[in-house]
Amino acid sequence: MALRIVLLGGPGAGKGTQAKLLADAHRLPHISTGDIFRAHLSEGTSLGGKVRQYLDAGQLVPDDLTCEIVADRLAQDDCRDGFILDGFPRTLAQAEQLEKTLAERNEALSAAINIEVSDDEIVERLAARRSCPKCGKIFNRKFSPSTRGEFCDNEECDGVKLIQRSDDKEETIRERLRIYHENTEPIIEYYRQQGLLYSVSGTGSTPEDVFQQIESVLDRLDAP
Ligand code: AMP
Repeated sequence: MALRIVLLGGPGAGKGTQAKLLADAHRLPHISTGDIFRAHLSEGTSLGGKVRQYLDAGQLVPDDLTCEIVADRLAQDDCRDGFILDGFPRTLAQAEQLEKTLAERNEALSAAINIEVSDDEIVERLAARRSCPKCGKIFNRKFSPSTRGEFCDNEECDGVKLIQRSDDKEETIRERLRIYHENTEPIIEYYRQQGLLYSVSGTGSTPEDVFQQIESVLDRLDAP
């Protein structure tokens, strides 16, 4: 059965971490709009130039631009058996456009999984978040530090220094949270009404605990 999954949750809820675990476990592509935008920024493409101002301010990139990028990515061969979408959709318009894009190919989402975390925990987590600029692995100085301190513990990275995302500064975190509540939270209701919403608790849980909760949801989808 094709698994077409959307991961929902505030900034820092653990969507990226869970998306990676799910993508590995189910051999599906992990599609993160944030990662796509950041790659364009660091490569200095024209798209990168268009989106920089939004990412720096913690604001949403316009829907038309974002939806076009996702539609192009979903049209690639590796998405035929499913995908894990991380950070998209983030507005109702994006959710509606995603439904249309899939319907044009006689496809539909399997589930929208919402990782629930309180605002206070989000602020605490994001300020301590670090990632490897080479392999993308995400660490947290407080909750899941690298075994090599400030350096990536992935052998292939050979001691690359971990970095903090420029939008993980406290002021930008608050703006991203405000935008999340205003624009993204309404999507939860949209998917609930479609019978696609499943919630898991991300508060006080280890990434492995959250992953197990998500896997139980996916097992239930498989059940006849
Ligand atoms: P993320 O890595 O998912 O936290 O995304 C980082 C930033 O990329 C966001 O703060 C937005 O500026 C932009 N972004 C990522 N996904 C979207 C989206 N679906 N719609 C609009 N902007 C997005």
